[in-house]
Amino acid sequence: MNALLQDGLARNYVAGSWREGDGGGVIAVEDPGLEEHMADSAQAGEESLAQALEAARTSFDRGDLADMNPAARGRLMGRIAQEIRALADEGAYLLCRESGKSLSAAHDEFSEAAEYFEYYGGVADKIEGKSIPLGPGYTDYTVFEPYGVSAQIVPWNFPVSIAARSLAPSMAAGNSTVIKAPELDPIALAMLGQALERAEVPAGSVSILNGIGGDLGARLVASSEVDQIVFTGSVFTGQAILHAAADTVTPALMELGGKSAAVVFEDANLDAVISSLQSGIFYNAGQVCSAMARVLVHRSIYEDAVARAAEMANGLSVAHGLENPEHTPVVSALQLSRVEDLTSTAQQDGARVAAGGARIDRKGYFMAPTILADVNPASRVAQEEIFGPVTCFTPFDTEAEAIAMANGTDFGLVAGIFTRDLARSHRVARKLRAGQVFVNEWFAGGISTPFGGVGKSGFGREKGLEALYNYVRTKNIAISLKV
Ligand code: NAD
Repeated sequence: MNALLQDGLARNYVAGSWREGDGGGVIAVEDPGLEEHMADSAQAGEESLAQALEAARTSFDRGDLADMNPAARGRLMGRIAQEIRALADEGAYLLCRESGKSLSAAHDEFSEAAEYFEYYGGVADKIEGKSIPLGPGYTDYTVFEPYGVSAQIVPWNFPVSIAARSLAPSMAAGNSTVIKAPELDPIALAMLGQALERAEVPAGSVSILNGIGGDLGARLVASSEVDQIVFTGSVFTGQAILHAAADTVTPALMELGGKSAAVVFEDANLDAVISSLQSGIFYNAGQVCSAMARVLVHRSIYEDAVARAAEMANGLSVAHGLENPEHTPVVSALQLSRVEDLTSTAQQDGARVAAGGARIDRKGYFMAPTILADVNPASRVAQEEIFGPVTCFTPFDTEAEAIAMANGTDFGLVAGIFTRDLARSHRVARKLRAGQVFVNEWFAGGISTPFGGVGKSGFGREKGLEALYNYVRTKNIAISLKV
């Protein structure tokens, strides 16, 4: 067991050292597959927050990262990636237990986290400005500068990889970063702190704090010491943070929820649809912002698609995450009751339960893999994010109807198209209201492809080169040569 946890307590990583909590207690962390307490995190209080912010500012002003040779900054990030890989076995075990996800999914998170540091480390020396022709007598150019102190709020569904997704471009750009860990599963994220420490990241340039969102998180984003806010989480919290950002006029990046639809045309390869659906809605028990939460199917193949989806869902292996099953519990009792409650409204609204529909009668917070058919697109279950292993099938007759239905929610994170018709895939992709469109494979793309939402799914982009420009601002330097 990791040194941070020898006594079952994950501490706060502040200004390069591990601190006890000063926030009045600990937050209990539960293993959702066993419904058992597994560890605690030490709550950071007012003093730890102030120290983390002061250390971040001091590190930034000293130029620890910003003035480091950019190639050296990239190499430092490469060392972080190595340390993440070295800690991955231990970290994945802890992540599996605290989040409920499968051990292999927990391993995927550590690999992905390492890849973010490699990817953005590789571009740290390629953040290039441009020269603007003003005619004789002038030289004009732009440079990209880091914001300063970036406050980053991380959700519980992918605590390690989402933290890395924002921290890596933030570091590559030269910012200092203060991270607020999710209260439900903060333990593996402390391992990321350990990787930073082992890689000898300048003290204070990154801190990781444990605490309750509405308390520590709210104080972090409201601080006048923060120059940029990066939030990944629910729409409700995003709105609260935007209000706080308005008060201090602080730029904010919002990666929020989704209710993403796949449009399955009559010429689709149904094998590809069903295998995409398995990962699209059952990976991480459906607790994925870009989950395949709605499946709109051409009426001519609709019943076949529903039957095959139900057969797949009913056949998934179910066990504690450590056994690497295909289906795992949701993160908490509260999450399970939310998922079950929303699912039950579908039945009241006339939907047909083709598979699942309720919690599984066994230890752990397991919701049965659920396929709802004949879902009314205007009903609550088709409009609200469920964030669990539940998807909604609805038939359509025409391409225009499918597009209108896919675009018919407040969200717009990702969307999918299943067809063998190349022209149709391009045509429909342009019409779908989403930040990313998958064709014939849900979750196609990777860390190099820009990701983010429209509408209530948020704004700004993570991943890819595009994301780097969320972590810098442009300065123009206009020089008269006439003196
Ligand atoms: P959440 O909004 O409840 O919490 C997210 C984080 O915000 C947590 O760390 C929490 O402690 C913190 N927080 C809560 N209240 C706060 C406040 N007032 N001020 C500052 N911080 C506060 O979301 P969640 O339940 O952890 O995550 C699930 C949600 O996140 C889903 O809606 C999901 O779609 C979304 N999500 C989006 C993306 C994306 O990239 N678009 C990725 C993952 C998750």
